[in-house]
Amino acid sequence: MSTTTTTETKTETQTQNGGEQKTRHSEVGHKSLLKSDDLYQYILDTSVYPREPEPMKELREITAKHPWNLMTTSADEGQFLNLLLKLIGAKKTMEIGVYTGYSLLATALAIPEDGTILAMDINRENYELGLPVIEKAGVAHKIDFREGPALPVLDQLLEDPANHGSFDFIFVDADKDNYLNYHKRLIELVKVGGVIGYDNTLWNGSVVLSADAPMRKYIRYYRDFVLELNKALAADPRIEISQLPVGDGITLCRRAK
Ligand code: SAM
Ligand code: CA
Repeated sequence: MSTTTTTETKTETQTQNGGEQKTRHSEVGHKSLLKSDDLYQYILDTSVYPREPEPMKELREITAKHPWNLMTTSADEGQFLNLLLKLIGAKKTMEIGVYTGYSLLATALAIPEDGTILAMDINRENYELGLPVIEKAGVAHKIDFREGPALPVLDQLLEDPANHGSFDFIFVDADKDNYLNYHKRLIELVKVGGVIGYDNTLWNGSVVLSADAPMRKYIRYYRDFVLELNKALAADPRIEISQLPVGDGITLCRRAK
């Protein structure tokens, strides 16, 4: 259960009154920003793992053995996505950033038999690790996987007016330095009333750290892009938003016009 394995890394947070306080915040495999590991474990043990579909459990366990398992969607976020998709009745969906396919499987299991997922990732090898589980679950027919960078695929989609305003749900979980480039295009592709979910918008809690605070290199590199995205989404009149502290932070954007 990699999702519950604590790492040695700690981060610092500010107290509400501005004083600095060292908060023991183990990353729980980068999967939760809750300040209490016990509370997070409680959520997993009580509400998530007992209800996790068998194929998702199997895929989670396969992914846990992969060296980049830090990238996977956590089980509680997978459950959240699955429920959200059912709540909004999503049928035509898109995912940017597949890795081994945990969020993809959560989506595929939530949408109807004739639902579709246009899934993009620059790496097919990792997708193929999870593919046998997705096939066994009987949902592979819903997935159109495209290997390569997502941006050109979006531009291609935009060339056909039939694709405009056609997606019910889009999950973005890939290169954070491109999120605003994605947003520019996705806002045209999602339908009015549809939802785009941008993942990792709290970026390991780094969004509230001072610029000179110690951070791992990749956290520091993408931090500015995440900060810029969060500001841009909050100021975008075309969407209604809610930024949730699920996983590493997910911002849900409903296209309003
Ligand atoms: N949603 C996945 C899951 O549930 O396991 C996790 C995705 S992982 C955090 C990010 C993925 O984005 C990686 O698999 C990476 O190969 C992919 N990626 C990076 N740059 C990309 C790009 N320009 N276009 C498409 N995918 C990209
Ligand atoms: Ca993510």
